[in-house]
Amino acid sequence: MKSILTLVLLLAFCSLKAQTDLKIYDIIDTVSEERLKHDVKTLADFGTRHTLSDTISNTRGIGAARRWIKSQFDDISKNCNNCLEVFYQKDLVKEGANQRIVKDVMVVNVVAIQRGTKYPNRYIIMSGDIDSRISDPNNFTDDAPGANDNATGMAGAIEAARVLSKYKFENSIIYLGLSGEEQGLFGGQGMAKYAKENNWEIIGVLNNDMIGNIKGVDGVIDNRTFRIFSEAITTDETDPKKLAKQARVRRFYGSEIDGISRQLARYVYKVTKTYMPEMNPKMVYRLDRFGRGGHHRPFNDLGFAGIRIMEAHENYTQQHQDIRTKNGIAYGDTFEHVNFSYCKKLTAVNAITLASLASAPPSPKEVSIGGIVEASVKLKWNNVKGAKGYKIYWRDTTSPTWDNSRYIEDVTEFTLDGIVIDNFLFGVATVNEDGYESVVVFPNKIMR
Ligand SMILES: [Zn+2]
Repeated sequence: MKSILTLVLLLAFCSLKAQTDLKIYDIIDTVSEERLKHDVKTLADFGTRHTLSDTISNTRGIGAARRWIKSQFDDISKNCNNCLEVFYQKDLVKEGANQRIVKDVMVVNVVAIQRGTKYPNRYIIMSGDIDSRISDPNNFTDDAPGANDNATGMAGAIEAARVLSKYKFENSIIYLGLSGEEQGLFGGQGMAKYAKENNWEIIGVLNNDMIGNIKGVDGVIDNRTFRIFSEAITTDETDPKKLAKQARVRRFYGSEIDGISRQLARYVYKVTKTYMPEMNPKMVYRLDRFGRGGHHRPFNDLGFAGIRIMEAHENYTQQHQDIRTKNGIAYGDTFEHVNFSYCKKLTAVNAITLASLASAPPSPKEVSIGGIVEASVKLKWNNVKGAKGYKIYWRDTTSPTWDNSRYIEDVTEFTLDGIVIDNFLFGVATVNEDGYESVVVFPNKIMR
């Protein structure tokens, strides 16, 4: 009787292990609202963090801000046995690069790498922005506290480093502060280029830009919903010879809503729904807000997966505004307008996504699919080192999320009997011993 009970308990434990990891709940609980508040206040108190602002002062301007950010990462590193590699990555941007670069400027990013134990060259990145602006994008002297845009994203990345540096992960995590966002995404461009030159294998970029406002300009107040923006497909389809073939493949076999950034967005959605079901993640099938930009785009431009995580309801009286009161409205992106319990929730969403992806094995690189005029679907993929098994996912063609799955071990091909290929979309993810899953890969080859 006792042994049966032990067996039942053991089985229950095993199945639990594959579903959730208690460590992830600890990570959520450790994210500190107080520390976020303190860091956003500190960043806002540098007066302005405009990319072209003062770099000499230790109390005002972007120089003081980036040195403070670096000092935070250095302190965190000291507390984890030097577990972070902290450095500046910089590029000179010449006057006239665009209308917002009115003088030569060194665009300086702050990078903190927590090196992975098993896959040191695979990186999952959380970014926020260092710089700020007011109504005139070229005004680099007046106060531009940029509390929500984007001290919240920056503080979130620092806080995620504090929380996650207490753990070890198989993949590397990068906590990143980018500059030059408001002047034309220069910091992201420099960093993406640096990643390419150094042959970084980027799992994905979680670009956080404004994660602290809950009261929309339309009056809606919502502290549960947030948006995940992702582009449909990568933009490396500019070669006209390739273009025709890629368009033809897409037309006949699908994939127009299944690019790598979209799969990353679905991953964030799923991790949130699993561990923070009180939250309401809203995927938006768009690169970014209508006609507007963010720092994930330069990474997308170079073929990397990257998404934007942000509040659901923006308040335009509190972003890119001179600080003033007019017609009873307090304009300006000031500290008082930020909701820190919401900022904490979105920081936690990032932290658990980073932890999950940093714990996950690589995705299969090649996934083939077949099953034309058959009552079954065949899938085949390359063996992934470190895989315990694989999960085949499928969903209705109109569904945004991977709703159905089948877990299998010890094989690199499988036939889903009774499933007609025409009616669903399919993908494959790698699963390891601890139950952590890679991002889903959409089939990239057709089986004949
Ligand atoms: Zn902005």
